Amino acid sequence: MDGGEELVFCALGGLGEIGMNAALYGFGPPQRRKYIMVDLGLSFAGPDLPGVDLLLPDLTFVEKIKKDLLGLVITHAHEDHIGAVADLWPNLRCRVFATRFAAGLLNAKHANDMNLSKLEVETVQIGGRIKLGPFDIEFVPVAHSIPESCALAIRTPLGTVVHSGDWKIDPTPTMGPPTDADRLTAIGDEGVLALICDSTNILRDGESPSEKEVAENLETLIGNAPGRVVVTTFASNVSRLKAVADAAAATGRSVIIGGRAMERTIGVARECGYLDGVPPFFSTERYSALDRNRTVLLATGSQGEPRAALARMSQDDYGDVRLAPGDRVIFSSRTIPGNEREVGKIINGLVAQGVEVITDRTHMVHVSGHPRRAEVAKFYGWVRPQIAVPAHGEPLHLAEHAAFATALGVPKVVKARNGDMVVLAPGDPGVIDQVPHGQLAKDGHVVVPANDASIAARTKLAFAGIISIAVCFTQRGDVSGDPDVLMSGLPSHTRDGKPMDVAVDEAIFNTLDNLGRGKRRDPDAAANAIERAVRGAVGHAWGKKPLVHVLIVEA
Ligand SMILES: [Zn+2]
Ligand SMILES: [Zn+2]
Repeated sequence: MDGGEELVFCALGGLGEIGMNAALYGFGPPQRRKYIMVDLGLSFAGPDLPGVDLLLPDLTFVEKIKKDLLGLVITHAHEDHIGAVADLWPNLRCRVFATRFAAGLLNAKHANDMNLSKLEVETVQIGGRIKLGPFDIEFVPVAHSIPESCALAIRTPLGTVVHSGDWKIDPTPTMGPPTDADRLTAIGDEGVLALICDSTNILRDGESPSEKEVAENLETLIGNAPGRVVVTTFASNVSRLKAVADAAAATGRSVIIGGRAMERTIGVARECGYLDGVPPFFSTERYSALDRNRTVLLATGSQGEPRAALARMSQDDYGDVRLAPGDRVIFSSRTIPGNEREVGKIINGLVAQGVEVITDRTHMVHVSGHPRRAEVAKFYGWVRPQIAVPAHGEPLHLAEHAAFATALGVPKVVKARNGDMVVLAPGDPGVIDQVPHGQLAKDGHVVVPANDASIAARTKLAFAGIISIAVCFTQRGDVSGDPDVLMSGLPSHTRDGKPMDVAVDEAIFNTLDNLGRGKRRDPDAAANAIERAVRGAVGHAWGKKPLVHVLIVEA
């Protein structure tokens, strides 16, 4: 073996948040390492970034080593694992490997995206193996909430790493094979150096229920509904969509699809054969023509997304698709933390229309796709790693998982975060370096750093509005005409009842009166003085300081 070879792991997302998964494995001497990337996902932005929906991992480091990047390997088709490919792959232009369903979804989603016109995803069989330089990668089937999820067994000359991806143990999944315990045990028998494992549900004891139980409950709830039934779930959860379709068929109802994301998944699922034997679905145009008790509508929007089908139905604003008292809406989903308010708003809108709402709080209509503690313990028992690196979690999940792995007897547990370069072999594992990392924001069609000044400015605008002022000076330094003032986002009156524009004018004129002729000839000084005076005066009169822009023009 070449001297100085190392096996390293470095996450650029996913170790510190649930979302934005992107991990690198590197092999070779530090200056001549070859890399593979596992997954390239996005995360959803919160209200702290106004105008931004999506967050992407910062790939500055990967762009630096891209000539040594042998490929991007996708574990499964969830957005937190593939959602950043469209925006970030054009900077990398590496080979991309995925199973057929993930490849189909990537292609379908980006069919019209010129950026991706050159991307040809190379498909890998479930259970298949690919070789990329020093990496020999096996795709081991695992159960999850989307078809074809795979754990990766990554063999290298310095040992095997198992990258769990997203998984659970479900002895009776309704679609695809169960998690392949035998295969993982056989890989464990060969010897596993490190396990990089899903932490999402590490705070929950026991094992998750099966998808089969959810399917049975959905059939009962669809069967005994007096009127229409709407089921909302994650658009990518094909086995859940099929469970609803099967229940509809068994109870004499037709399925209507509401929401583009669901149509896209269904198209790819049909191509891959996952909906063989399921009668065709209808679009919402057929809604009015079907009897109330002959209808099941599958709708997007389980997380309260304001533009999705369900949110519009809750506001009675979804074309002909109207609900009536006695109809039933089933949330076959879990509300992701942070979305409670939006989901609550939708539920209230539906209840106000007299609609019955069923959620996982009262009925077993959803199971998670991630492993609880007892399942995680089994996985460690199968692969028996020397090293554990908890992944796919917020800081609390990662810390809890690290303690759990230690308690399970894993000899070495590495607590790593995004940007930590972890050496796995040879010698003692641990963090040896930091690489650039962070979040990018998808702002309209443009990608900028999430801490960009333009987005920070939006928070200020939202909080206290903006005043724009134009003042014209002659060459001698006299004011020409009246200043122009435009305000946006301010109340019309001060706390004393004075019109706000009068308060602003007074501040401007007072400043101009007190401005020496020298400063009037210096546009920057004059602008600063006016800005400070107006912010001060409005701050006093309102209690909040708006942004103030002053434009000085010369006549
Ligand atoms: Zn995930
Ligand atoms: Zn997933």
